[in-house]
Amino acid sequence: MAEPNLATLPIELLHHILSYSIGCRETEERATIGTVSKPHISCPLYNIAATCRHLRDVVESFTKHLLLSHRSVTKFKALANYSRKYIPVSTDAAIKSKTLRTYRCAWVKWVMRNCAFCGKASTRRALMDDTFHCCQSCDRKEWPDKITMTVALQTFNLTKLDLFTPNPLFPTTWIPPIRYAVYDCVGVETTVFMKEDVEVRAKLIHGEDGLEDQKKRKKRRMKIERATKMRILRGRWVFLACNKDVERGWWRNYTTEEEWEERCHAEFRNSQVSKLITAERERDGLR
Ligand SMILES: [Zn+2]
Repeated sequence: MAEPNLATLPIELLHHILSYSIGCRETEERATIGTVSKPHISCPLYNIAATCRHLRDVVESFTKHLLLSHRSVTKFKALANYSRKYIPVSTDAAIKSKTLRTYRCAWVKWVMRNCAFCGKASTRRALMDDTFHCCQSCDRKEWPDKITMTVALQTFNLTKLDLFTPNPLFPTTWIPPIRYAVYDCVGVETTVFMKEDVEVRAKLIHGEDGLEDQKKRKKRRMKIERATKMRILRGRWVFLACNKDVERGWWRNYTTEEEWEERCHAEFRNSQVSKLITAERERDGLR
């Protein structure tokens, strides 16, 4: 019997797996079609469809189902000149006929141009899930309880070390990364969180501690935050290595758990920051 693999799973299960990857992103790479330069589209559905004929057909049936079952917003009509084979949109025939011949292309085209909730044309990405386009009013309706970082820090007595992990105080995944979004609000970088996520985080950090203990903890951790000479830039910790680097404007960006353990933590070893971190971890019994 052949080894089980992704393609041997039942169709219903494959559809369920695909349902976690129905959005797509524009990548930083660009492709030139004719004289127009367009960003590449990164879409898991395309990648899966490119692996074998069977999975291509599964992706096709899944995207057809998506387009038809949400017809009230997609306004989708059956494709003319349908072909399961991928015909690049850059070919003369495809440009002339102005038809997209695969359901996956039709789905991605719709997702990239319309609000996923009301179907109106929209170029705006949803704040809390940037794989979808979403108009402003639907964003407010779908994610009503967003709070800014300032409100999160003040209301729940948290520090940026508690919110953005991994970092020197929490180098492991004991505290998982929190959902956040960064956007420009009148030229100012604004970070928002979902209120329920921050409430869970505050519970994890403070437990049943009273207000006084929470404030003391915040004060200690803010001292560590200042001593690390790190700052949050668009939701990520960036680390100023030395004064020369600061002058040159060189920032170091550590994002994975391994990087924190191997490189960044080594730089703090035997330093004042390291002592502060060790004391704080021992005090709160952090792993
Ligand atoms: Zn909308």
